[in-house]
Amino acid sequence: MALIGALIVWRVTSHGPNRPAPAAPPPLPPAPAARAEACGQTGWRDAATANDRSLSSLAWAPFGRAETGWETYAPLIAREIGTRCGPATAGFAAAWARWQAAHQLPADGIVKEGDFAPLRNAMALRRPFVQQTAKGLCPAAPADTALADAAPAESYGGKPIQLREGALAAYRRLVAAARAEGLVHGEVLKLVSGYRSPVEEAARCAQGGCNTLTRAHCSAHRTGLAMDLYLDHAPGQDPTSTDDANRAAMARTPAYRWLVLNADRFGFLPYPFEPWHWEWTGEPP
Ligand SMILES: [Zn+2]
Repeated sequence: MALIGALIVWRVTSHGPNRPAPAAPPPLPPAPAARAEACGQTGWRDAATANDRSLSSLAWAPFGRAETGWETYAPLIAREIGTRCGPATAGFAAAWARWQAAHQLPADGIVKEGDFAPLRNAMALRRPFVQQTAKGLCPAAPADTALADAAPAESYGGKPIQLREGALAAYRRLVAAARAEGLVHGEVLKLVSGYRSPVEEAARCAQGGCNTLTRAHCSAHRTGLAMDLYLDHAPGQDPTSTDDANRAAMARTPAYRWLVLNADRFGFLPYPFEPWHWEWTGEPP
């Protein structure tokens, strides 16, 4: 959860301390309804073909680290542009073109690195934690008395996990809703990580360095509002491995796709680079 460092760099280099701060990010649009969309419409075929190809081959660095393809981000992009059509369809290309036009970008329906950037920034700056770190602030850890223990059955491997009380209650509401829709089985949606104290974070930094893409000196986990959720992962991978194949495998899971469409109803926002990481926004960090 260290994109924060990169975001601060982006914010400072692109706006500078003396320039006006960027406008507040647009709110998360409502989840598109499950309706009969014309995903196979006749227009936008060339764009759909280009997107189909680039889905697994686009060479880009959307979060500063080189990666290939955009499949990992396809569910979030679809949510942002208001479509349930698959990323390689004409319906998706049409929705992307509408989004491009609304953001004063050439509306060719083709997913590209430069066009993704404003969408990525909006997703980041909606998160109250990032709003703090973008100003150079690192939220203080909550008092011990504000933290509640997850039940062993709620955590991956039964390890002790704490969250702020409100965040744990919201997590439980979210899991109950996912369970009612048949999405919870085995370890799916169990807590892999929750609150991490500043001392624990410092120890992690001492082990492997911090302020890289994958590890932050000031992590959202210190707020007690961030949690890592177990999603089926690629064979042989750790549940929070940032390996590209692992992240893409997670983004294909029904549980992740459900989270993208529904987690905001329970107050959660995603961190796009890590499909497992969600932040509860019901209290300020
Ligand atoms: Zn996390």
